[in-house]
Amino acid sequence: LNIRQEDLKIISELGSGASGTVSKVLHVPTNTLMAMKVVRIELSVRQQILKELQILYECNSPFIVSFYGAFPQGNFIKICLEYMDLGSFDSIYRKHGRVPIDVLGMLTFSVLQGLTYLYNTHRIMHRDIKPSNILLNSSGEIKICDFGISKEMINSIANTFVGTASYMSPERMQGSNYTVKSDVWSLGTTLMELATARYPFRPEGENMSIFEMLDYIANEQLPTLDPNVFPIEFCDFVNTCLIKDPVNRPNPEALLSHRFVKNAHLKRRNVITWIASLDLKK
Ligand code: ATP
Ligand code: MG
Repeated sequence: LNIRQEDLKIISELGSGASGTVSKVLHVPTNTLMAMKVVRIELSVRQQILKELQILYECNSPFIVSFYGAFPQGNFIKICLEYMDLGSFDSIYRKHGRVPIDVLGMLTFSVLQGLTYLYNTHRIMHRDIKPSNILLNSSGEIKICDFGISKEMINSIANTFVGTASYMSPERMQGSNYTVKSDVWSLGTTLMELATARYPFRPEGENMSIFEMLDYIANEQLPTLDPNVFPIEFCDFVNTCLIKDPVNRPNPEALLSHRFVKNAHLKRRNVITWIASLDLKK
């Protein structure tokens, strides 16, 4: 599919982040709704990025947001992706509060399947697992997006980090190489945030700079989930993801057989029921 600007009708803006802006668009010739991400880049790396993005055509998994195509326009690259109509989990929990445990089970199963697929099939690591990069649609499907396929794009976006929350593993903060286990750390942080509706590693009432926060994550004993509030297998799963030493932290594929994840995909109906209840609260 060769997507051209003149075939796209912009419907609304979905959100924006450090890397650019995402709009809901209609691809008129095929009558397909898409999410179009517009990323500002240096002209000099434009061809390189477009070339690196080609691998997205080969990423086909029910747990990964599909790629329709990308094209350049001046200093921008426009990337057309599967439209996920219920958006990302950060906006979902900000609007509707804590995410129920069965939904977190499906989410965990989907993210681990997506990460395992990316790594086993393409030797790609995600590098940016967080609530805003995990998306939901009204069929109850949960998929990951925005993984690090393009080295050039990672370079140009890494320079513009302005986040107030960090999902980065201790080993990454200390400058070690990225591994699939770093994605597992980010998943653990994400699950704590979605379960409690609050980013977990910024102590309440303290006005921490991002540097103080990174230091705290790497060197202090971090808070854990209360086993009186959450199922023990969920608490254990999150604690396992948040093992500070990557040597002792399992990789995504191994975590697929954890007790919390094993039967999680059987709870699909509960996700659908939850989605229906969200509509009522709107
Ligand atoms: P950052 O730039 O730090 O990664 P982010 O993930 O929030 O932050 P974007 O990736 O630009 O920033 O996404 C902005 C918003 O657009 C997301 O929060 C999400 O709600 C929405 N969005 C992104 N991709 C899609 C998609 N495929 N379908 C529906 N909504 C999407
Ligand atoms: Mg994103």
